[in-house]
Amino acid sequence: MKIVKNSQELTQLIENHKQAGDSIGFVPTMGALHEGHLSLVRLSVQDNKITVVSIFVNPTQFNDLKDFEQYPRTLNEDVQLLQNEQVDYVFAPDENDIYKDAEDRNFDLNSLDSMMEGKYRPGHFKGVVQIVSRLFKIIPADRAYFGQKDFQQLTIIKHLVSSYKSEFNIEIIAGTIIREADGLAMSSRNKHLTKDERLAAPTIYNALTYCKNNVENMSLSEMKQEVAKRINANPFLKLEYFEIVDNKSLNPISKIITGGCTGCIAVYAGKTRLIDNVSF
Ligand code: AMP
Repeated sequence: MKIVKNSQELTQLIENHKQAGDSIGFVPTMGALHEGHLSLVRLSVQDNKITVVSIFVNPTQFNDLKDFEQYPRTLNEDVQLLQNEQVDYVFAPDENDIYKDAEDRNFDLNSLDSMMEGKYRPGHFKGVVQIVSRLFKIIPADRAYFGQKDFQQLTIIKHLVSSYKSEFNIEIIAGTIIREADGLAMSSRNKHLTKDERLAAPTIYNALTYCKNNVENMSLSEMKQEVAKRINANPFLKLEYFEIVDNKSLNPISKIITGGCTGCIAVYAGKTRLIDNVSF
């Protein structure tokens, strides 16, 4: 496994592999790796000859400077974890390399960035698309792997790639949400939880699961009320939003369509913001 810091060097290495006919899989991350990230890495290793993992805490997708500053950075541990996974390249660039070209391109996201995460984290998806589009140019992979955990992000990246086909000739593969034994979705931010918050956090998954299990006998508004009640009843949690949205448009639905909609939630556990979702 080779650690590459320079984007030009990595592009050249990838071009060499492509010329040799090797398929390339790419897993973008912000590091502080956990089993969720590693599940995507394993999908890529299965599907491709070469796997590239990027580790870059992207400043432009943080709407809150404190969140950016406090985001866990554990490069040495991350490299160790990846060493056990048949990864070929770890791309760990610095900010100057990624943002040396100041061009601030506006991709048309068809308003998929206006609701939920986009509403509560203004500018977040503009930053996500900015970094992902730059990484896709540096690493012209055949496939890129994204987690269902960030459902809106996954939807936006799929939209980006299908609307800008000539620029991004890359297949987007989704990985299922990996959870702790008690149901909490794995997240780098879970490291920030206090003991009490960590104990409270599985309430999020329990509330989502309750809705999924009772989909036949609950209306949409009953689901929303039930989720709000369960979350806010816990003194360590505060609901930011719970929306049940159409998988393609991300607009709130008026009726559950099995296989076509997802319940998306954001909750504060103290100062830590957690997101999760359930597909119906
Ligand atoms: P991040 O480092 O948080 O930017 O995440 C990098 C990638 O890992 C994204 O595609 C996430 O959706 C994915 N990911 C994060 N947490 C999980 C999880 N618990 N299960 C599966 N994928 C995840």
